[in-house]
Amino acid sequence: MSKTNSDKKTSIHTKVGDRVVVTSGKDKGKMGNVKEVITKDGTVLVEGVNIVTKAQKANPMAGIQGGLNKMEAPLNASKVMVVCPACEKATRVKHEVRNDKKVRVCKKCNETIDV
Ligand SMILES: [Zn+2]
Repeated sequence: MSKTNSDKKTSIHTKVGDRVVVTSGKDKGKMGNVKEVITKDGTVLVEGVNIVTKAQKANPMAGIQGGLNKMEAPLNASKVMVVCPACEKATRVKHEVRNDKKVRVCKKCNETIDV
């Protein structure tokens, strides 16, 4: 019986709409926009990244044709880095309060990432 530290909360540094780059895995180097952040799993869904082919069963009642569907699968948020809109580099972000607003700031160029 080995207990893993799985209840450690993952903090996700990306938000829907962010441009991110994949830093590991088969899609390393690919860029895309974050479509969805699944906080409870610590994963993100990125447009055009981690495409999987799923067999879709035909369901005529629902008007669904059988066949193969290509869709994005969520990938671990730790495998992507935010691409800074200002300097266009994959960067780590830090959190700062500017003008009374909590914003994310690019560690490379110090520009705010949130608009
Ligand atoms: Zn930057």
